[in-house]
Amino acid sequence: MSQAAEGQDVDAFLSFYRTYYSDEIARLAQNYPKERRSLYVEYDDLYTYDADLAERYLNRPGEMQEVAEEALRTYDLPVDISLGQAHVRLRTLPRENTIDIRAVRVSDDHIGSLVAVQGIVRKATDVRPKIVEAAFECQRCGTMTYIPQNDSGFQEPHECQGCERQGPFRVNNNESKFIDSQQLRVQESPEGLRGGETPQSIDVNLEDDVCGQVTPGDHVTVVGRLEMEQVTSGQEKTTVFDPYMEGVSVVIEDEEFEDMDITEADKREIIELSDDPDLYEKMIASVAPAIYGYDQEKLSMILQLFSGVTKHLPDGSRIRGDLHMLLIGDPGTGKSQLLSYIQQIAPRSVYTSGKGSSAAGLTAAAVRDDFGDGQQWTLEAGALVLADKGIAAVDELDKMDSSDRSAMHEGLEQQKISVSKAGINATLKARCSLLGAANPKYGRFDQYEPIGEQIDLEPALISRFDLIFTVTDSPDPEHDARLADHILTTNYAGELNTQREEVATSEFSQQEVDNVTREVAPAIEPDLLRKYIAHAKRSCFPTMTDEAKESIREFYVDLRSKGADEDAPVPVTARKLEALVRLSEASARVRLSDTVEPSDADRAIEIVRSCLQDIGVDPETGEFDADVVETGQSKTQRDRIKGIKDLIQTIAQEYDDEPGAPVDTILERADEAGMDAEKAEKQLEKLRTRGEIYEPQQGYVRTT
Ligand code: ADP
Ligand code: MG
Repeated sequence: MSQAAEGQDVDAFLSFYRTYYSDEIARLAQNYPKERRSLYVEYDDLYTYDADLAERYLNRPGEMQEVAEEALRTYDLPVDISLGQAHVRLRTLPRENTIDIRAVRVSDDHIGSLVAVQGIVRKATDVRPKIVEAAFECQRCGTMTYIPQNDSGFQEPHECQGCERQGPFRVNNNESKFIDSQQLRVQESPEGLRGGETPQSIDVNLEDDVCGQVTPGDHVTVVGRLEMEQVTSGQEKTTVFDPYMEGVSVVIEDEEFEDMDITEADKREIIELSDDPDLYEKMIASVAPAIYGYDQEKLSMILQLFSGVTKHLPDGSRIRGDLHMLLIGDPGTGKSQLLSYIQQIAPRSVYTSGKGSSAAGLTAAAVRDDFGDGQQWTLEAGALVLADKGIAAVDELDKMDSSDRSAMHEGLEQQKISVSKAGINATLKARCSLLGAANPKYGRFDQYEPIGEQIDLEPALISRFDLIFTVTDSPDPEHDARLADHILTTNYAGELNTQREEVATSEFSQQEVDNVTREVAPAIEPDLLRKYIAHAKRSCFPTMTDEAKESIREFYVDLRSKGADEDAPVPVTARKLEALVRLSEASARVRLSDTVEPSDADRAIEIVRSCLQDIGVDPETGEFDADVVETGQSKTQRDRIKGIKDLIQTIAQEYDDEPGAPVDTILERADEAGMDAEKAEKQLEKLRTRGEIYEPQQGYVRTT
């Protein structure tokens, strides 16, 4: 740019500021430099003032920002202050310059220009000072040599400006200029992804006052210059380049489903559908239609998608409305398929495996990796944080990392995750519903053991789930025949569709294909269902009717009285009660109803009852025993274990000159008491693995 042209642009900015931003600049001057160091300019204002200037700003952002900042320095201020280091930061770009993260390519003509991207902050380094002008103090004569620094590496002086010798030098921190710096990794928002695409991301460099304003998990719009950086492999430069952004402004978006455009026509369709007498059946038939059966599970998934109402109490506390649910079952029973279908219909979802694909795993972590300059600490969001305000579908939950387990407790109930490590103290939001799937402890359910004991998750975690479904795969000719028909029809429909698409001479007519496809198509199009759910969650906040409250109260009291006997600890906790409330609210939301009716309460009760029965039937007595769900043990078992422990103590006292109670004697006595030897042996094994007894010598045991 020629000097004259630059001078003209400075003048243009000056008069632009006078017209649109005089108040803003006065405020900036009052708070400069402590509280504010930037003038935020809306792109639209600049465009309205001078379209040509605005467009040049987009195409040559580096130069133009300098011009804009130069104009700010020469601006006449009412107070006697200089805005020497103030920044001009443009925000709210036009649509054409808002680009998809996955669309950023090196060949992109956006390179070098100002663009905006939307996404979720996946990683953020801690904020660290970066040197922008280094003061080198000569150790021989004490003269300072000032060298401006940039991103291409630390520059040292060739010689001292005073004595002209080659040092040695020492960097004087007080005389040097530093600026805050931070790096972010922004990933595509979960709702922008369809059908399980791998999310793409872009890194953003930030400087000065925009640092430290976002936390991983925040949804943001970042405006910045799109640049390229040469990839290095070790010390070597390669021929490959990576795009990245020099961030100009970052705005946190707290809108729930930003990408969801629900038109008036959509709304009419949604409201019409909400009056459908077969609404709930249609909803069920819209979840993973390729998977046969599981109507209760599918209904629950629907309720989970709609979710209960998050309540804010007058004392400032909050009760979660999100429902957590767990599918535990034999392998090959369609769990993974059910889970992954969530991505088709949830307005916002994250699907992952318990093992996790990143260091952050399911929750969040402070990690030290190659992200950022040098070995910098980085805070990274895991699945529950990325799924904030949506659903986290986690397959193979039983395989999750031990570091995730403890963080999960907080995540599921308080819906936030705290990380405190290496000077990073952060609380990340995790207001999501968890849909988990897991295999039983030994890979497959053992029908002779209580199901509660075969769940390989600790009771404290288990009790955070509102619903736990167990799926056992046992042969049943009638059921198997229907399942076979269903799978064959689904596959046949798939074959026909594929053949029609791939083979030009296919003998099947579109009519035939359509007929077969209709049988396995979802009752409500995924696209409409997704909008329906988003609309309901945004606009529907139902309250309980007295009748609904009464139904739930009755069921709960009855349930407690069944589980409670003289010495039983409290079996079903109040958590179940809240689960019932959430399920009923979700059921009302499905109809877009403002009130929770008794029919909603009944629907919730039915689901909870069937879940409890699946899991809580004591296999030894055949009786319902809710202890199993809450403590992982049936009452008979607790009695038996207690009995055996008492027995060991008694026998150990009798044989007090021996190292402990002889195992043979224990088994004999147990047999006399009516417990067969095999079961007694199993109990001993269990007590041993739990560390409740130990073996002082082969053949003897003692209680700890
Ligand atoms: P899991 O995760 O429970 O081990 P998957 O979801 O991987 O099982 O399912 C294994 C295969 O069996 C899938 O191809 C699935 O389509 C099929 N399958 C299992 N159960 C059903 C069912 N009820 N209806 C239709 N397909 C089923
Ligand atoms: Mg699976």
